[in-house]
Amino acid sequence: MISRHKSEQLFEKAKHLFPGGVNSPVRAFRSVDGAPLFIKKGDGAHIWDEDGNQFIDFCCSWGPLILGHNHPQVREKITETLQNGTSFGAPTVLENELGQLILDRNPFIDKIRFVSSGTEAVMSGVRLARGYTGKNKIVKFEGCYHGHVDSLLVKAGSGLATFGTATSAGIPEGFTKETLVLPLNDEAAVLKCIEEYGHDIACIIIEPIPANNGLLLQEKSYLEFLRKVCTENNILLFFDEVISGFRVAFSGAAELYGIRPDIVTYGKIIGGGLPVGAYGASDELMACISPLGDVYQAGTLSGNPVAMSAGIAQLSVCAQDGFYEDQEKRTRFFVDKINAFAKANEIAFEMVTIGSIFWLTFGKHDAIRKADEIDASTMLDFKKMYGELLNHGIYIGPSGYEVGFISQAHTYEVLEEAATRFCEVLAQLK
Ligand SMILES: *Cc1c(COP(=O)(O)O)cnc(C)c1O
Repeated sequence: MISRHKSEQLFEKAKHLFPGGVNSPVRAFRSVDGAPLFIKKGDGAHIWDEDGNQFIDFCCSWGPLILGHNHPQVREKITETLQNGTSFGAPTVLENELGQLILDRNPFIDKIRFVSSGTEAVMSGVRLARGYTGKNKIVKFEGCYHGHVDSLLVKAGSGLATFGTATSAGIPEGFTKETLVLPLNDEAAVLKCIEEYGHDIACIIIEPIPANNGLLLQEKSYLEFLRKVCTENNILLFFDEVISGFRVAFSGAAELYGIRPDIVTYGKIIGGGLPVGAYGASDELMACISPLGDVYQAGTLSGNPVAMSAGIAQLSVCAQDGFYEDQEKRTRFFVDKINAFAKANEIAFEMVTIGSIFWLTFGKHDAIRKADEIDASTMLDFKKMYGELLNHGIYIGPSGYEVGFISQAHTYEVLEEAATRFCEVLAQLK
């Protein structure tokens, strides 16, 4: 068993400072045993905690670090920029550089606006959708996460009601009434909802690759169906690509599937490990944003030069030929090894994967495409596995509903070692 002595002490102190001892809830390790690990440093595919334990890291800061920790090019670019100060609240050439780097390669959007988090990007994108269409309601899907935006912290209501109920205290019913919640992968539900409320629906928002509540891979035909009904009914199709953008392809799931969304949001990878989010759309839509148009949106630290630098350095590497093919190849190597082991040993375990994302599933099941197809009891299997993974030097997000990420720093050598350790844990738990 690894020692967590120092982490435990630090967590006790943190509990006096922050609600639950953390600044974002999943970090508190509530779904697994023991105190959260306090991380001291990261390098490449590895992290070290305050007790000196070393781990191969598959959390990668929940996705942003697609080049791994402490990547030399990212570090150097940040350091260089820092010499000139940290923030001006005025335009800088670095914003132009990152904007150009993205727009030159992204056929789906004409203009982009930088903000400071994924949540902020989604919140702004929803306001744009409403401002542009003059309609009030939005449609979201059960099992998709869009940050902690009031109107999106909503789940399906009871019975047949399409109106959502809040998943958090502090959200007025008036807000949730404007959000319609539907199951994923259900064309009939979408058609029925549009028939009833279509005239007042501003946008349908979806994670085209839902990866915040397990990995609920949708069929391409379903996403194409959404594109079609949105166009036919003057509803904007909103792809929240905060997790999939720059992850499955440079221009995200839109590029992977060849489907054009009307509004897109990015976050995570776009900032190279610093706080950046962004939303983008056509010239026509983006002309609604202040100061050009009457949809207000602003930010004191938006387009922060240090954060832009990290994004430029990281996305420059992502933009290189073959980057995503290589990411996927290494991911498959890792996932196939583990899945083959589970199969050969008749262990009811499978890693589901797309691009360089993977998700651990337990028990026997068909493809899981809807939130309610996840068997909640399998989270106990995850919990058991989690402690053993830590003991074997593997760090992943501390919840069975979270996915894992592979970075460029996860070389075949690292992945071979990690797969061996994973299989040892599976054998031990059998
Ligand atoms: C992470 C995430 C968000 C929220 O981004 P934050 O930077 O945590 O605010 C929104 N949407 C999706 C799809 C995400 O994965």
